[in-house]
Amino acid sequence: MGQLDGKIALVTGGTTGIGLGAAQRFAREGATVYVTGRRKSELDAAVAAIGADAVGVQSDVSRLDDLDALFATIRERSGRLDVLFANAGVGGVTGFADVTEEEYERTFDINVKGMFFTVQKALPLLPEGASVILTSSTNASQGIPAMSVYSATKAAARNFARSWAAELAGRKIRVNSISPGPVETPGLLRFAGDDADAQRELKENFASSIPMGRVGHVDEVASAAVFLASDQSSFTTGAELFVDGGLAQV
Ligand code: NAD
Repeated sequence: MGQLDGKIALVTGGTTGIGLGAAQRFAREGATVYVTGRRKSELDAAVAAIGADAVGVQSDVSRLDDLDALFATIRERSGRLDVLFANAGVGGVTGFADVTEEEYERTFDINVKGMFFTVQKALPLLPEGASVILTSSTNASQGIPAMSVYSATKAAARNFARSWAAELAGRKIRVNSISPGPVETPGLLRFAGDDADAQRELKENFASSIPMGRVGHVDEVASAAVFLASDQSSFTTGAELFVDGGLAQV
């Protein structure tokens, strides 16, 4: 028996990194998985990597008409959504003085507006017992130089989870957030460019500040997502689950 047998799940930003890892685990645990991404070629590769009866839907979370089309597809094919992992996100490292209006708006459009309307527009499809999981970050509760825009968006995600948990508890819908510390994904390694030595150095730098002495693996975040998605966490709502090797505690 899989932990998610018979459930219908959606992972936004499911083409790479944490989203792809979670989508693969959800499928292995028995869920029917929808994944979204912006580029068709990446989406096709992700669907092949997830296997089972995964469905890829091209969709940009910051575009409300894309979200309407996404949920219309899920309604038509599956009729409901038991697990919503709102994970799509972007981030950059830019000193406070150098942040442009464009970078500010893009980060908030995807990470805040995109997450907000992904969950709002999914509401009619969420049955009693549904689980919503939001990807926040340890950045949400720390002061990190040159990451104030990204960190503020992740603080929004953390608060969305608490607010919506309180508001949706009456409908028996749970909402929790996951706060990963540095996790080895294409999104993280991009900070070091394509050079393998630079990427190794980046991971070592992160590892030196993490009490457990290493960066995380995608599968470790996926395990947390499976727990929150499954009925194993049936009385857990409004929680912030750190998957960070102790980083948020120092
Ligand atoms: P990634 O870049 O590997 O994956 C991000 C995913 O989001 C990709 O699939 C991308 O296509 C998708 N995406 C970006 N903009 C989108 C949009 N407008 N519409 C739809 N999809 C979009 O990054 P990752 O490291 O796997 O990050 C996943 C989530 O985890 C993000 O929300 C990120 O902020 C968060 N996070 C990552 C880390 C880390 O160290 N990797 C740590 C804390 C939080």
